[in-house]
Amino acid sequence: MSGQHRFLLTPGPLALSDEVKAQMQYDMGSRDASFKTITAQMRDLIIDLVEGNGAYSAIPMQGGGSYGIEAALTSFVAPSDRPLVCINGIYAERMLKMLQLRGVHAVSITVPCDQPLSISQIDGYLEKNSKITHLCFVHCETTTGVINPLEQIVELAKQHGVRTIVDAISSFGAVEISAKKVEFDVLVTSSNKCIEGPPGVSFAIASLEMLNINVEHMNSFVLDVRDLWNSFEKSGEWRSTPPIHVVQACAKALERLTIAGVFRRGERYRSVRDAFIRASAPYASPLLNAQIRSVVCLALTAPDAIRAQKDLDALYAHLVDYNLYIYTKLHSPTHSFRIGCMRRIDPMWIRLLAIAFQDFFDVNRNVRRHLSASKNRFVEKAL
Ligand SMILES: *Cc1c(COP(=O)(O)O)cnc(C)c1O
Repeated sequence: MSGQHRFLLTPGPLALSDEVKAQMQYDMGSRDASFKTITAQMRDLIIDLVEGNGAYSAIPMQGGGSYGIEAALTSFVAPSDRPLVCINGIYAERMLKMLQLRGVHAVSITVPCDQPLSISQIDGYLEKNSKITHLCFVHCETTTGVINPLEQIVELAKQHGVRTIVDAISSFGAVEISAKKVEFDVLVTSSNKCIEGPPGVSFAIASLEMLNINVEHMNSFVLDVRDLWNSFEKSGEWRSTPPIHVVQACAKALERLTIAGVFRRGERYRSVRDAFIRASAPYASPLLNAQIRSVVCLALTAPDAIRAQKDLDALYAHLVDYNLYIYTKLHSPTHSFRIGCMRRIDPMWIRLLAIAFQDFFDVNRNVRRHLSASKNRFVEKAL
């Protein structure tokens, strides 16, 4: 089995292109000039993608998205700061937890997972609480795929003189983000979502202004974004061994993204997402209203058939028989399950999904009808 590619319909990691995977065959010295060149190119591509030339720097680091988020929070929020975390899903909850683990006095506001963050609520909070120093939130909450109003939130924060730390892990590469239009302070992404690279590298995209602030509070070596930045600027080197194969593949993936363009990639995901909606239409429906639905993943509910994790386990096992792999966990507050739209998803996979859904849900429905019919017969007899 391990010699076979799975048809990944997960919102990261995802099925990689041959061109990206091919880069992982090459061994390189991590402090050799050729690897420094690849690292520099990768950083430049990220900055070009956000139109951040001259005002921002991209700092890659070892580890997946969560590492990048924790590094940003550790490097740019001091213990004496008072960050506000705006929550509408598990990834923002995780930001809050990371801050709390460091003993930072973070506060939060929460809205339901199937709603976007509310500008007026955040505005009201900032009006009343002038001690807030940072606003931390997720651009696209992959929990449900809900898209939050990045531009308006960052604008609002600026009006209040509050710094912004944005988790754009699942939106970067599929939703256009321009630092010229949205003057965020720090934005984090990672290699294995819409960049379409393998997992293993994350990026902090930070304003030079933030990077140039002197801090004394750092109590971590690996999570110190400024120190890493200094190393890249001074020597072009990573401080400790980078995942050289993954970096090479990620650089190739960024090159492909640049050629494709973020807008076109987003449109491709949109058509995949809409094809998923059509394929599942008789059995499951989108959790979110169309206006707040992102293109990167689709949360579905099937209230009759998928109510608990064990129901999703059964659907998951059924789909595996078709070599299809969706996200394994049911989001219990909304009873939704997720399909990822990232990567060039073969139309054949979508047809296969439609057939697999039909098999699963129709059979389930027939079994239930049969069960309730026999129960009725039993009741009749008892009477
Ligand atoms: C995937 C994801 C993360 C976590 O990334 P890992 O690589 O799993 O650590 C964080 N935030 C968002 C919005 C994500 O989509």
